[in-house]
Amino acid sequence: MRNKIIAGNWKMNKDVSQSLALVGELKKALSFDLGTTKVIICPPFTSLAAVHVLIKGTPIALGAQNMYHEDEGAFTAEISPSMLKSVGCQYVILGHSERRQYFGETNEFINKKVKKAIASDLIPIVCVGETLEEREKNITDQIVSTQVKGVLKDIPANQVEKLIIAYEPVWAIGTGKNATPQQAEDVHKLIRKLIGQLYSWSTAEQVVIQYGGSVKPDNAADLLSQPNIDGALVGGACLKADSFASIIKASVK
Ligand code: PEP
Repeated sequence: MRNKIIAGNWKMNKDVSQSLALVGELKKALSFDLGTTKVIICPPFTSLAAVHVLIKGTPIALGAQNMYHEDEGAFTAEISPSMLKSVGCQYVILGHSERRQYFGETNEFINKKVKKAIASDLIPIVCVGETLEEREKNITDQIVSTQVKGVLKDIPANQVEKLIIAYEPVWAIGTGKNATPQQAEDVHKLIRKLIGQLYSWSTAEQVVIQYGGSVKPDNAADLLSQPNIDGALVGGACLKADSFASIIKASVK
């Protein structure tokens, strides 16, 4: 039985004081019973330490938006897994399409980071998804399968079981144009089947697969009611406490 996990990707938004204000509002907005739903927020690096102090003792967990696959050294501007852990992170988003698109991240590079995150006791939220062009060419399944195989390369089943995969069709991110629940469910099913083939059905059944791409309060319930959609990775709508809380509420049974 997989529990729902709702994560907020703040991207490059909110300085420290704005971050603290948003978390304060979110704490108030989350006054309902979360049931088994887990909530993660992923603010920018500069806000992680301050936010960690504010969410202590609450059900909100902390994640980062990226990391490097080395422990330390001459890697100017990069952040290591132990640095993230030292400011309270338990999760890290890896391979977001904006990292792939603007910073040239490849499946091979993301795979190194996924391995390092797991070895460092951080739970990766690994993103995959096709572009509009790829969907229109009817090669979504092929693209997503290649990405899943690439990012999971040489990772054993007992580690794959613990990670989170986020299916985020690139054409739906920040566009206001979400995949229909059926479109999303079809790809989630494909990912789970592929993991079943690569590992085993018991591994596939344990992997949490989130949907991301213009999730909003008014479409969350329909998306989250699909059997293979185990949560959401939310961008724009997580920057307002009330809309993020409404999405979380939609996941609570
Ligand atoms: C994201 O950035 O991961 C995302 C899904 O963004 P949005 O919800 O704004 O489409």
